[in-house]
Amino acid sequence: MKIICVGRNYARHIAELNNEKPTDPVLFIKPDTAILPFRNPLYLPDFAQEFHYEVELVVKINKLGKHIAPEFAHRYYNEIGLGLDITARDLQSKLKAKGLPWEKAKAFDNSAVVSHHFIDKTQFKDLNNIYFHLQQNHQIVQKGHTADMLWKIDELISYISTFFTLKKGDLIFTGTPAGVGKINLNDEFTGYLENQEMFRIRVK
Ligand code: MG
Repeated sequence: MKIICVGRNYARHIAELNNEKPTDPVLFIKPDTAILPFRNPLYLPDFAQEFHYEVELVVKINKLGKHIAPEFAHRYYNEIGLGLDITARDLQSKLKAKGLPWEKAKAFDNSAVVSHHFIDKTQFKDLNNIYFHLQQNHQIVQKGHTADMLWKIDELISYISTFFTLKKGDLIFTGTPAGVGKINLNDEFTGYLENQEMFRIRVK
């Protein structure tokens, strides 16, 4: 399986990193080795100094698809989860400045926290009206609302599938809202989808 990540999908997050608003979704991929094993702590690697958390709504693909039209995209997922796109921000900034790919800063081992359980999408009244948030040591640091996405879930699936064949079990990280920040040793992160706790991880 693979993880397809969307960058710059929330206007206020684009502003906080001084990025330009894209005309098309920004995409990058994390391999399956990026997933932090369930119940493992997050050990910060030593190849960078500044790691950031990015909480994101995660969509799990349920069948093979390519060139999916937006109006049929809803048939390709049943479940919604929550994750953290862990980013080596100092390294990413260096790579961006040189116009180089982001993989070393975004796709390294354990750079994807994924909730152990997913919620059936029929549990939500409106997928474009889902609230999620992240707590760092019991303080809310990021609040997201799918209504604020520049590209909605179905549009993302359609767009992504024009480049990458989607397979059952693939995960889509749909972008982070404003409020990203630094990860510190011994932090505890808790992610909530609506009011349900989805993951809890400790940094070592
Ligand atoms: Mg992200």
